Amino acid sequence: MALNGLTNRLLSGLTEIWSPQPCFVCGCGLVEGEKQICAACLRKLPATGFQRYNANPVERRFWGRAKIEGGFAGFYYRKEQVLQRLIHSFKYHGNTEMAVVLGNVLGQMMLDNSDKFLAYDFLVPVPLHPYKLALRGYNQSRLIADGISEVVGIPVNEDILIRNRFSGTQTKRHKYERWEGVENNFSACEDCERWTGARLLIVDDVLTTGATIESCYQALSAIPMVKIGVVTVGVAAS
Ligand SMILES: [Zn+2]
Repeated sequence: MALNGLTNRLLSGLTEIWSPQPCFVCGCGLVEGEKQICAACLRKLPATGFQRYNANPVERRFWGRAKIEGGFAGFYYRKEQVLQRLIHSFKYHGNTEMAVVLGNVLGQMMLDNSDKFLAYDFLVPVPLHPYKLALRGYNQSRLIADGISEVVGIPVNEDILIRNRFSGTQTKRHKYERWEGVENNFSACEDCERWTGARLLIVDDVLTTGATIESCYQALSAIPMVKIGVVTVGVAAS
């Protein structure tokens, strides 16, 4: 009996060591090369295919608002669906690896249209408000950009776009109003001439109204002859 007990303990210990990480969606064991989500579940996500087309719905969303050279979202984003769970896992539950993995997927999609999407000099994550950064501990857009960079080799640049802190008048307001007021308040770095002619690909998690990207675009337009594109994991119906 004693020997059996020991054997059982040993076996369960070994199983723990060898059991692979489960797929976040279906719970099956991931195989080598897979992280967070298995290949079958990844194939079931509603991919847009937008990266292959000019004048796709993401680019059209900015017509008349911002001169976006090229853009796409990897997947359609709908509430109560799998993609929302994946995004919430890194946005609200600290699953940082998921953001990098989805960035890897976007990087692969960019390879589908390399003439268009590999011509950028830098990946520019949408900066998180310092208050939210302190709460969350990381900027999820930065992690997505890291994942893209791993695949396509374009470096991430967090110096070129800055989220403004509060001005003197704003600090006198009620604290909740204050957050509202600065939500989309960005500026390009002070030494804009240094980046003349730069081709910048803005990276964000989900495209909804496009207001955030539009604000980033306006700030980055201070750079002479800049060219700006956008890539997001998901796109919500406008
Ligand atoms: Zn799965």
